[in-house]
Amino acid sequence: MTDTYLRIQGLTKRFGASVAVRDVDLDVRQGELVVLLGPSGCGKTTTLRMIAGFVEASEGRILLEGQDYAGLPPYRREMGMVFQSYALFPHMTVAQNVTFGLRMRKLPRPEIEARLAETLDMVKLSTMAERYPRQLSGGQQQRVALARALAIRPKVLLLDEPLSNLDANLRQQVAREIRALQRAAGLTALMVTHDQDEAMMMADRLVVMSDGLVQQVGTQEELYERPANTFVARFIGHSNLIRGMLEGGERLVIPGATIGLAGHYDSSGDCTLAIRPERARICAPDDPAARITAKVEDATYVGAHVEVLLVLPDSTRVILHDPTDGGAARRFAPGDLAGIAWDLASERLFDDAG
Ligand code: ATP
Repeated sequence: MTDTYLRIQGLTKRFGASVAVRDVDLDVRQGELVVLLGPSGCGKTTTLRMIAGFVEASEGRILLEGQDYAGLPPYRREMGMVFQSYALFPHMTVAQNVTFGLRMRKLPRPEIEARLAETLDMVKLSTMAERYPRQLSGGQQQRVALARALAIRPKVLLLDEPLSNLDANLRQQVAREIRALQRAAGLTALMVTHDQDEAMMMADRLVVMSDGLVQQVGTQEELYERPANTFVARFIGHSNLIRGMLEGGERLVIPGATIGLAGHYDSSGDCTLAIRPERARICAPDDPAARITAKVEDATYVGAHVEVLLVLPDSTRVILHDPTDGGAARRFAPGDLAGIAWDLASERLFDDAG
């Protein structure tokens, strides 16, 4: 990537004998919003904190516009951070909270006033400047935290689970607001979340982490269409994962059955087949397109599609989304045997054991 703005190289954090973050590499372009996504404990917050300067890296480099940030204290990094808890000062008004960083940096008074007006306008809180945090809703407090981070005109905006303290019905709205603001201001931003929907909705690119390791970096489409391993296939959207033994590069042997694969693979031994629910179809068990037969357990009309639950001979459960219009699921009753068919473009085979 030629136009890298923030570059992270080999970033590692050890706490005693345990490694929270392992050898993370990431290039972020100017104006991009990158989301670090992963389950609790995967190291995403520690990664963000190392970038902010709150946690010292054990190894690795953080470069912003080519400048090495090692050893720089947080306030000299020109990064604005929004914390999960908002971390507003309860005894200060909105205006005092928002201008805190500017006053610490001893900016001239007129400049402070101008930036206060500008950032409150950006987050639509201009009429609330004299209120105290306790007099604001959760969503408004979150916007004050955002305004405080924006007021310093950060080179990078860091967001640590910014939506997790909001009501479920407010989250989407605030997610859109943050995204619109970030885009309009052309801000480079890194956000941490464990919520897949939130990540998919807001990110230009996502970094999927697990066990302190980056599993894959990519756009929503790349992660969904071409997951790098079973962890990503399972974590992004739903994948039917079928474990078996690859034979002759084109058959997956599972207890009680053999699946005829669409592709030909060089690997051998334990493999995991991943099929998205909407990428396979149900057909007659003797249909030549059927790659395996399974027992229909249930079929539920859910509006957008018919959700069909099937059980393979090895007891693995498979979910298919059959079209409500012209799909075959209606022809099957619970207990019937059915075929499952898919094409090469819908098949992913991983040589990890899943
Ligand atoms: P969450 O979503 O729960 O915050 P996370 O993905 O952000 O999880 P981190 O908070 O970065 O994960 O933690 C990664 C690992 O490092 C965890 O196993 C955690 O227990 C450990 N860890 C984090 N901070 C410390 C610390 N100060 N001392 C020791 N271990 C720590």
